[in-house]
Amino acid sequence: MTSLEERWRGVLDGMAEAARKAGRENGSVRLVAVSKFHPASAIAELCRLGQKDFGENYIQEARAKQEELSDLDIRWHAIGPVQTNKAKDVAGRFALLHTLDRAELARAIARRLPEGGAQDELVQVNIGEEPQKSGVRPADLAGLFEELLAQGLISAEGAGLRVRGLMCLPPRCGEGEAARPYFIRLRELRDEMERRFGLDLPELSMGMSGDYREAIEEGATIVRVGTEIFGPRPVKV
Ligand SMILES: *Cc1c(COP(=O)(O)O)cnc(C)c1O
Repeated sequence: MTSLEERWRGVLDGMAEAARKAGRENGSVRLVAVSKFHPASAIAELCRLGQKDFGENYIQEARAKQEELSDLDIRWHAIGPVQTNKAKDVAGRFALLHTLDRAELARAIARRLPEGGAQDELVQVNIGEEPQKSGVRPADLAGLFEELLAQGLISAEGAGLRVRGLMCLPPRCGEGEAARPYFIRLRELRDEMERRFGLDLPELSMGMSGDYREAIEEGATIVRVGTEIFGPRPVKV
């Protein structure tokens, strides 16, 4: 049986190989280990080996793990949809929120930030335009940036909400290669938003267990990998 450590090292090797293939510097891509449904003990084990970034989908589960592991130096990432009434549980409590997709949520988070506090975030794009998925549609992305800027909700630096880039979750298509066009599209959208609004949007959060190599080849700076590291997720009861 392969151990957690071996699987984790396998992903780091796969990332390094993809970066090399793309002529990118190894270390230019961050691994977020997606630990949803997995026990805090598995997070602690990886943390001791040097994995510092962990991603959780459900705010309640994340907050419980944050409490349980409060003595560890972990950067928590919120990667699931956030209801507006949960903004208080997100604001200032995650190193990065990957799923900002509407001005209403941005307003709610900004209101909950402590004086002078900041929250880094990514705008989630519904890149496959799937009706059931959250994220702003590509055609509405510029409109969202306009709204956020007009309301003074985002700034490139300093306090408040800091939009650092874009995130996507492409349609489930099995093969990694099938996701590549979506990754290219997200990168193009990022370039477009940077030009149009004069913003610096360095981060692209894209790529999961089945397609992180292709995502890195197309410019991902953050990959979110769960199953390849932790194995299949336990069924939630
Ligand atoms: C669950 C999840 C992942 C990890 O998926 P795996 O296929 O297990 O690697 C990544 N991103 C998001 C948004 C997720 O919900």
